[in-house]
Amino acid sequence: MSKQSEQNIIQKMYKMMDTLALINSTQDLDHLLQLIMKAIKEVMDAEASSLMLLDPNTNELYFSTIEGGSEKVKEIRIKADQGIAGHVCKSGKPLIVNDVSKSNYFLKAVDKKSKFQTKSILCVPLKSRDKTIGVLQALNKKQGQDFSLQDQELFTAFANQVAVAIDNAKLYNMAFYDALTKAFMRRYLEAWLETEYARVKRYQTDMALLMFDIDHFKKINDTYGHQAGDFILKNLAATVKNSIRSADVFARYGGEEFVVCMPETDVKKAAASAERIRVAVANKEFIYEGKKIPVTISIGIANFQDHPEKTWKDFQKDADMALYHSKEHGRNQVTAFDESMREMKKAA
Ligand code: GH3
Ligand code: MG
Ligand code: MG
Repeated sequence: MSKQSEQNIIQKMYKMMDTLALINSTQDLDHLLQLIMKAIKEVMDAEASSLMLLDPNTNELYFSTIEGGSEKVKEIRIKADQGIAGHVCKSGKPLIVNDVSKSNYFLKAVDKKSKFQTKSILCVPLKSRDKTIGVLQALNKKQGQDFSLQDQELFTAFANQVAVAIDNAKLYNMAFYDALTKAFMRRYLEAWLETEYARVKRYQTDMALLMFDIDHFKKINDTYGHQAGDFILKNLAATVKNSIRSADVFARYGGEEFVVCMPETDVKKAAASAERIRVAVANKEFIYEGKKIPVTISIGIANFQDHPEKTWKDFQKDADMALYHSKEHGRNQVTAFDESMREMKKAA
């Protein structure tokens, strides 16, 4: 091997190792996959790269993440034994096809849909815990070159690490995140809150809890349909995520009820953040099947410093009571908890 190509391989290996290091520090599956696709495209000197995952319910392969091609391919699903990807998935062995026009396995339908012209493919299986969970592909080696056995070896070694990382991140995501909104699930929030609350108590720092609920959501479902309701939930969650800090914990508490927990935040700052969230939602254009659906939320705030002697469960109840107050006083508003609300609720 020439000095030049040896140098080249070492560089490629470093790039892959850098990406693998990132894998270990992120639990955000979508972000992780995008990083991996970018690295593959670069290291394999390819025009595009893609990850196809196996849906165990339907035994189909679908495009999960792509880099360099059209997102249109995401509409395609292929049987787990169809095409080059299917063949690799089934056999569990990597495959190089340097001229797809001469391959019996190649599926033209995919190119047709994506308007991408595939010339060459290097496809390797993703195996984790003795299972094939999908395939990784590098498409069209640049400058009309062929993918080499050396490329295949490097790609396979990389894929073995990636498969384990995907499997772990997937399990992590399923365990902690709500599938529709990508917000944390209630059980994660409560476990986190219990520990964090004890810490805040010990060090006498501060923390705020925002609880909010969509106004007249039943009516939205009834008027526009349950699918439209789901669409609102998903997009509302994305809007809220854009309005909070990365240290804040955002969770779906129940059907259309959410919580944002803000560490090191006094009531004044929490009220300003809550107002920002309320306005962001009220101003957001939710357009479903061509119809604009007006959406507002009511928010309640509890603050740790107001009642340091309480437990994390009381803390949640306070936020809920403040939320109830917002609902009772006309909705689409923010209320901070105050002891007098307890008396008012009793009287009501
Ligand atoms: P309010 O302003 O008092 O909160 O009125 P509301 O209509 O929002 O009242 P409520 O909180 O009782 O209604 C919640 C509705 O949310 C009822 C339920 O069908 C709907 N919902 C809960 N989870 C989901 C979901 O995942 N998807 C959809 N589309 N609807 C949901
Ligand atoms: Mg509700
Ligand atoms: Mg509601």
